[in-house]
This record gives sequence, structure tokens and C-alpha cells, in this order.
Amino acid sequence: MSPRPDLGPKPRLGYAASSIERAAERRTDAAALAALENDRHARAYLVAGDSVILKKTADVADPLFNLAEARTFGRTAEVVFLGLCNGAPRFAIALEPQAAETFKARDEFVVTDLRSIAMRGLVEADHLAPLAEGKALLNWHARHRFCSTCGAATEVVEGGWRRDCPSCRAPHFPRTDPVVIMLAIAGERCVLGRSYRFQPGMWSCLAGFVEPGEAIEDAVRRETREEAGIVCGRVRYFASQPWPFPTSLMIGCHAEACSREIVIDRSELDDARWFDREEVAAMLLRRHPDGLSTPPSMAIAYHIIRAWVEEEVEFR
Ligand SMILES: [Zn+2]
Repeated sequence: MSPRPDLGPKPRLGYAASSIERAAERRTDAAALAALENDRHARAYLVAGDSVILKKTADVADPLFNLAEARTFGRTAEVVFLGLCNGAPRFAIALEPQAAETFKARDEFVVTDLRSIAMRGLVEADHLAPLAEGKALLNWHARHRFCSTCGAATEVVEGGWRRDCPSCRAPHFPRTDPVVIMLAIAGERCVLGRSYRFQPGMWSCLAGFVEPGEAIEDAVRRETREEAGIVCGRVRYFASQPWPFPTSLMIGCHAEACSREIVIDRSELDDARWFDREEVAAMLLRRHPDGLSTPPSMAIAYHIIRAWVEEEVEFR
């Protein structure tokens, strides 16, 4: 076995480890919410459709607007309370999707999507988690304007953390969709795959939605078998990451591969194959001779793969 590669300091996972205190007890108190909106330290992230609006500054962009300023940009679809940031109220505001075009025409703003913001480090890293919270919550609102029980238009309550049906009284809560993302491993080798939408040369963990009535471990085994034909045994949870595209939670795992022959489901994957530890280390370091790479360090896949390369995975 070759010596353990030095991959340098561990980078931070994107959208995770939020510094926001959600202060859920304030959501049910209408007077307290109104006071938070009127607090002079209150700030908001602005979202228009899939775009986030940033203010251009000398170095990184500033994603925060005061609430009075935000209201000058046209009709707001929703205002949701994200929580407190060092005691200051933090909101996310949905503008009409077409408002993005107006901002694009103005030099003082950057209009881009949340994935690019994280990938390109356009804002201070501490903004990524609350931006993910706001974007996911606003996306849920945009898609849940009507009651799924009776079809009547629903009303926003509790600072954006619930929608109530005035007709049948059903309450509706924001959804998070669990996705398993896993690395199947067998000693010195692991299975990586390529989705059709990946940029050339990039390989990553396999992933898929957890289905109703399914445990995380079973979803890991099912997806690995469906996509790559590999039978897995023991599954070990690693870490999770909010993934606001639109409202997923990535559940990172390592899985013990019990079979070796790869059978690719071409409807899901462009390719999949075994990689040895040394090759994967070169991919993490961006030093692979053929230019192959893993996903960037903002994504949980990088961390799942790296933990295996650094021999931190144990099945018990
Ligand atoms: Zn209803």
C-alpha cells in the first residue's frame, strides 16, 4: 500500500454549519415577527426565480439588503424569517421572477444562481447556509400555493414556515427531500460514476432520492445496485449537506461493496468504473495525468471521497 497522500487542510463544506439561530419560537408570534421586520438591523437576501441578487463591491459581493430598500424593487411574493444572525433578524424575500432581468440591466448588481455563488466564492462563506435556507424555503412557497388536499389557495403563516388552507384547514409544512450520496468501496478501490450533465473529466459518488418507506441504508444499497450493478453490504453514515436545488438534503455514506462487476444503467449514468486510491488522490489534488477530477470541495462528494482516500472509513 502506498503512503497516505497529503491532501492539505480540509476545506469547508458549502451550505452547511449555519451561523443562523432559527429562533423558531418567534415564528408563531405575529407581533414579534412584525417587530423583527421593523428592526433597524434587519437584513434580507433577495431571490428572483432561480436567481439571487448581490450588490457589487470591491472584493466579494454583498448579498444583504435592508428591508425598506428591498421593498423599492417591486412586488414581493413572499417574505420569510430565517432567524437571527448575531442577534440581528435575517429574512429572505422572493421578488417576481422577471425582476431578475431588471437587476441584470443595472451595473451595481450581480444576478446569479446559488450554485455559482458557492463555486466561485462570490460572497463570504458564512452567507452560504442562510442563502440555502432562504432559497429552499422560497422555492417551496413558489410550488405550494394551493392546498394539496382540496385545491384552495393557501395562506402564508408563521413567518413563512407554514401555509394554511382557509377552506379545509389543512396545515402544510416546508418539505426537504432526502437524497443518498455514497461511495462504494472495496479495500483499495472505490466506484465513481459520471452523470450525463457533468463537465468533461469529472467523476463523483453515485446518488439518488430516498423513496417512501425506505431506510437510508436500503436506499444506498438500492441506488448502487440500480446504477452500477454493485451489491453492497454494510453502510456507514458520514455527513450531510443541505442542497438547495431545489430542496434536497444530501446524506453522505460509505458502502461496503460485496460484488465487483459493474453494470451501468445508461438511462442514469454516462459511465462508472473502479478507481484505486492513488488515482483518486490525484483527482482530489487536480493532478490527474488525464485531467480527471472529483467535484469541488464545496460539495459533499469531495468530502466523502477524501475521507476514504485518507483512510478514515471503518465499517463496524
Ligand atoms: Zn384545503
